[in-house]
Amino acid sequence: MNSNAVALYARETVGFEARLAHAVALLRSAAADHPDRIVQATSLGAEDMVITDLIARHRLPIALGTLQTGVLHDETVALIGRIEARYAMPVEIYEPVNESVVRFVAQHGERAMYDSIDLRKGCCALRKLEPLSRMLAQRSAWVTGMRREQSNNRGAVAFSELDDQGRTKLNPLADWSWADVWHYIAVNDVPYNPLHDQFFPSLGCAPCTRAIAVGEDFRAGRWWWEDEAAKECGLHVKPSKAAPVSMIGAPA
Ligand code: SF4
Repeated sequence: MNSNAVALYARETVGFEARLAHAVALLRSAAADHPDRIVQATSLGAEDMVITDLIARHRLPIALGTLQTGVLHDETVALIGRIEARYAMPVEIYEPVNESVVRFVAQHGERAMYDSIDLRKGCCALRKLEPLSRMLAQRSAWVTGMRREQSNNRGAVAFSELDDQGRTKLNPLADWSWADVWHYIAVNDVPYNPLHDQFFPSLGCAPCTRAIAVGEDFRAGRWWWEDEAAKECGLHVKPSKAAPVSMIGAPA
């Protein structure tokens, strides 16, 4: 069923302008602190589209990078070209090592992610974590669209933190609501993934993302067959919980 995400979610709430100004200030400050070494790791979801628009609108020297896992929805892949056309900014695309994917699929099958959490994390390790490590290799800071409201696991997201490698990880929308995100998109005519019009609030790989029903949590459509506590792909581990990429996902 199609809806219109802007009509459904956009709402201006008290304090929006202050939250917006704070997000811009954080981005501006991080760009100045990490010249040529900061990237927005965009998931191409609604929050990340807001951040990309802020980067472009304020001409901030922050690169754009995304993970093309090889199993994204067509609508998500198409958004990469829409970003480049709209903002005239290149999007760096990081793909998994083909041999690793071929070996993993040959060993565990196309649907391995449904068989166990370890196999699901193994798939995330080779399709997401390893490419992310290449995106961040020469960087000292990265920007994400994480918000506290997205899930219980993300309730304590800080505006700025250190990742497991000591890089600055900036979450400029940490205090934004879903209504804020869509209010910004509406006011600024930001391009967004049409899957958001089909009740996909949180977007990821096609096999691991479904639409949510009325009343379900924001991230209920991600890895819906797993316990709530397991529902992260490893991109956003805390330093104390982090493991090197090579240790995650034991399956070869
Ligand atoms: S989200 Fe699913 S398909 Fe994507 S890398 Fe993780 S397990 Fe694999």
